[in-house]
Amino acid sequence: MISLPQSAASVINTLHDAGFEAYAVGGSIRDLLLGMETKGWDFTTNATPEEILALFPDSFYDNLFGTVGIKIRKSFDTAQDEQKAEIEDIYEITTYRSEEGYEDHRHPDKISWGKTLQEDLARRDFTINAIAFDGKELIDPYDGQKDLHNKCIRTVGAATERFAEDALRMLRAVRFAARLGFSIEDDTAKAITLHAKSLTKISAERIRDEFFKILTATHAADAVLVLKNLGLLFYILPELETSFATPQKSPKRHHIYDVGTHSVMALKHCPSADPVVRLATLIHDLGKPKTFRQDSTGLITFYNHEVAGAHIAKDVGKRLRLSKKQSDLLYTLVRWHQFSVDERQTDSALRRFIRRVGKENLSHILALRIGDRLGGGATETSWRLELYKKRLEEVQLQPFTVSDLHVNGHDVMALYGVPPGRIIGEVLDALFAEVEAGSLPNDRDALLKRMEELKKTTLH
Ligand code: ATP
Ligand code: MG
Repeated sequence: MISLPQSAASVINTLHDAGFEAYAVGGSIRDLLLGMETKGWDFTTNATPEEILALFPDSFYDNLFGTVGIKIRKSFDTAQDEQKAEIEDIYEITTYRSEEGYEDHRHPDKISWGKTLQEDLARRDFTINAIAFDGKELIDPYDGQKDLHNKCIRTVGAATERFAEDALRMLRAVRFAARLGFSIEDDTAKAITLHAKSLTKISAERIRDEFFKILTATHAADAVLVLKNLGLLFYILPELETSFATPQKSPKRHHIYDVGTHSVMALKHCPSADPVVRLATLIHDLGKPKTFRQDSTGLITFYNHEVAGAHIAKDVGKRLRLSKKQSDLLYTLVRWHQFSVDERQTDSALRRFIRRVGKENLSHILALRIGDRLGGGATETSWRLELYKKRLEEVQLQPFTVSDLHVNGHDVMALYGVPPGRIIGEVLDALFAEVEAGSLPNDRDALLKRMEELKKTTLH
């Protein structure tokens, strides 16, 4: 038997004490039944938003979703002042609802308040998300617990109708399968195949949000194949869908998979948790179908596929409405993913690579490379890659620009006793030139000492 944590039980008690019905519901109960950590508790009640607001002082009304949020603050024991304690979580309380009419496959035409818990559970998407618990009794009219046990995603009610109402539910089904390692029940899966095209009616932002959750889930790679098999991938990443038809196996080449399968395997092995890095790993080779060439000996090549791929990355960034920063990262990772880790490279070649990719993105592009290697059937460690990582670190210890020096303009002004002016830049440039040439260490004491010497030679 499950029990509610104190903070969730007290929300229900407050509503009960005021004479209302109240249940924890949805993802929180599903995760609790699975023995997983639960964040973001959801509650449903017959109290109206105004009545809920009156009962919880630290609450606010979200007009768009008809939900009241309550701020849950960090434990009082650790905080000095209860009101100032850091917000740990937001719990959401929603009045019973029954939604009708989804003309646009997206939004209910009108949200109507329901009178009973039964109505509220009937409008929820999947059986495993339609279980309510008030601390004593589990209300489970659609046998959600049985589906949890059988690891099965099944719609509440007729699947075709539920996906016709709201096409985003198709991606939610895959998202829960990806996260929990469940399979999608046959009728539910068939209905998705039938309705896949209506994904085009969903906004790119909502598709992106679900897709990012799928990419960062435990079973992300399997889920991308599920998206493909259900006919959904075509409406998210058509370039990936078609790349399964591009072979890579040829004489003198290590590749064992077609481009699409390799992409999915790379995602599977990518160690990063960042959705943009995972997306970059998934699409890094999508320039290959366009650059595919096969000579008379059967040898396959994909010259400059990273340039073609970078164009695709730009398109994908636009299509999925990524932020400027996310789009730039996606582009950069795909554009430079072919970097060589040859140990004969000079320091300046390494510096050029770091400048192109950006210091802050090095761990990301290395994560892509690890996925790429393991997703191509290579072994875990490569001494070349390890050596390259070490050299990248060493090269970074050397300053790249004047601003990396361990002295700055203030030091020059103090030592020379001058106000801001041209001389400051000149002194720093002179120091930098010596550091870059290797004749002076980037060490504060050494730099200050050298500055004094320069002062003597230039001013006296
Ligand atoms: P997560 O752990 O990712 O938050 P969740 O199940 O809590 O998963 P939410 O998006 O937070 O998912 O939604 C909370 C609940 O609201 C769901 O469990 C489900 O009962 C219901 N719900 C959410 N979106 C829909 C939808 N599009 N159609 C029907 N019911 C939905
Ligand atoms: Mg939730």
